[in-house]
Formats: sequence, structure tokens, C-alpha cells
Amino acid sequence: MNKIALYIHIPFCIKKCLYCDFHSFRFDVSLFHQYTLALIKELELRLNRDYSVKSIYLGGGTPSILPLENLERIVNTIYRLTKLEENLEFTIEVNPGTINEEKLMVYKNLGINRISIGIQSLIDKELKLLGRIHSSSEALTALDISVKAGFSNINVDLIYGIPNQTLESWKDTLEKILKRYITHLSIYGLMYEPGTLLYKSFIRGKITPMPEDLELEIFNTTQEILDKYGFSWYEISNYAKDGYECRHNLTYWKGEEYLGFGSSAHSLMGNVRYSNTPNIKAYIELLNRGKSPKIWSEKLSPFERAKELVILGLRLRDGISLSDIYMKTGIDIEEIFGRNIEKLISQELIYRRGDKIALTDKGRLLGNLVFGEFF
Ligand code: SF4
Repeated sequence: MNKIALYIHIPFCIKKCLYCDFHSFRFDVSLFHQYTLALIKELELRLNRDYSVKSIYLGGGTPSILPLENLERIVNTIYRLTKLEENLEFTIEVNPGTINEEKLMVYKNLGINRISIGIQSLIDKELKLLGRIHSSSEALTALDISVKAGFSNINVDLIYGIPNQTLESWKDTLEKILKRYITHLSIYGLMYEPGTLLYKSFIRGKITPMPEDLELEIFNTTQEILDKYGFSWYEISNYAKDGYECRHNLTYWKGEEYLGFGSSAHSLMGNVRYSNTPNIKAYIELLNRGKSPKIWSEKLSPFERAKELVILGLRLRDGISLSDIYMKTGIDIEEIFGRNIEKLISQELIYRRGDKIALTDKGRLLGNLVFGEFF
């Protein structure tokens, strides 16, 4: 029986954040219903009881703007069509501006057992600069009501590197979050993605990115503070209390199989990777005609698969086992990339223990240099 992870994409948001290049659109009530029906049709087309689901992840976009009856229909369809592992991890991403106690209670009753809250910062002027729809006090309320609703597995997303952010404002955000009950933290550096409004402001010289030395100071301070609160890093940008590592996201980093549903969602089964159309209207129309929304697929060669396992696996604190990759793909990474591995070891960007290689602290900061050696 295939153990798999399920990803469900909800591509709607109240308003586009200024830095966001995810597949998400301003919410359109008229599309909710049609999109939900299409999603249910896709689940019916592709899911079956040969799968055993170890994790479900409702991501976006903003899944918490979905009306509860739509969400219930989607979740009940999954439960009807497939088998669930006993220790299923079931996450929903929520935006603090779109959540309340009633919704959280319904999530809990539906079997959702992990909440991921996009807080990003607890400084109102930083939230404004990012174009977030919520205030810092709404963000803290979202956290408090999640605990009150009985969730014991809670992730918070934070962003550093925001223009005009200081070491003090970052520490203030981090400490306020850590003093509350959370089990997982995802911390990402702000990216200036072409096509976003933030990028335009940057190109026009209206905002200045954070200087690199301050970013480094923030990175080091973050480690110290998180240690104090019992959080360890297990992936370049992710920290957890012991036993609360995100099982769904580990599936991606370990190169294991997953099925993605919804517009633009990706899947990986065996050596085949494929994705759905990103066009919401086309997605709905195709499914209304009983057709697959898949528009792209590629079969990875053993070499491509091995490279992918290296690049994704090196993101993890545990790193990669070269013999494990050989068993999975038949590719001897050392034979092909031996020199690159030696170079990275001599630069103290990775270290080797037995047949395993993993990032050093320095390598974690300069991850792109490491991954670049395996392209
Ligand atoms: S809420 Fe998330 S997905 Fe939606 S626009 Fe903001 S960053 Fe993008």
C-alpha cells in the first residue's frame, strides 16, 4: 500500500501581500462554490483506497477564507475516498485576519490537528510594509484562540529581512511568539520576487533591503533565542520542539511521494512529477467536463532523481546518506560529485560522518553555494 501525503491548494486570498509570488488571487465568492465542486471532482478522479494517507495539508492562498460548508465537503470527500494512517497529521494554513473561534472549533471537529498561522511580524509598521491584512494584536489573538480551541500542534510563520526592521524589533517579535504556546516555527528571509509590488518599490529605490551584516546578526541571535526556548532547527528555515517536526513537509525534503490537488498543485509519484493548470477557470472547466486538470509531467531519470534527493535532503539537519541514494536510484553520488563534495568540505560548508553528508552552520547560511555544486 502506497503511503502518501496529500496537498490541497486553496488559491484565494483577501488581498495580495506585497511580497507574495505564490499562486493566489483576490478572493472571489462566486468562484468558491465552483472551485470546491471541481476540487471534489478531482479528488474523486484520482484518490482511491490503495493509498494510505499519512498527512493532509490545506495550503494556499488562504484556506481559512473558505466557507466552512465548502471546507467540510472537501474534507469529508477525502475521508470517504481513501484510507488514513492512524497518526495522520492534518494541517490548515490560516491568516490571522480570517479566523475566529467558531472556525477553529469546526476545524478541530473535522480532524484537523495542526494549525499553521502566517503571522510574519508583530510590529504593525512591518506588517503594513508587507501588505498583510492583519494587525499584530489580531495575530496574537489568532494564536491564543487556537490554543483555546485545543490545538496542541501550532506553527507560526515569521519573516526577517523586512526593510527598516531592526535587531530589537525582530527579537521583540520572536520573544513574544515564543512566550506563547507554539510547537513549530518557520522563519524565512524576505525575498524580492520579480513581479511583486515589493520588487517594484525596490527597483524604484523606494525601499532598501536589510544590510547583510544585520541579517547575519539576526540569524545568530535567532539561534540563541530558539535554543533558550527548546527549539532546534531540522530544516534550513524550520525549527521545532522535539517530536513536532512537520511530517508533511518532510515528505517533500525526503523526496517521498505526494499528491497535490487544486489549480497549480504539483504531485510526485515514483519518478514522475506532474502539475495541474494554474488557471482557475480552466481548472474548473476541465473537471466539469470530466477531464484531468494535469497540464505538465516529466519522468525523472535516475540521475535527475538522485540530484534532487541530494539538493532537497541537504536542506535537512540530518543531511543525506549516500548509500541510501544509491539504493533508491542506482546512482553513486560520490563517483559523480566526489570533487564537489571534497571542495565543500574544505570550505567548511558541509561535513561528512560515515556515509552521510550534512550542512555546517556556515553551509546553512550559504545554502545556495552548496546546492549549486550539484546542478
Ligand atoms: S496571505 Fe499568503 S498566499 Fe495570500 S497573498 Fe499573502 S503571502 Fe500570498
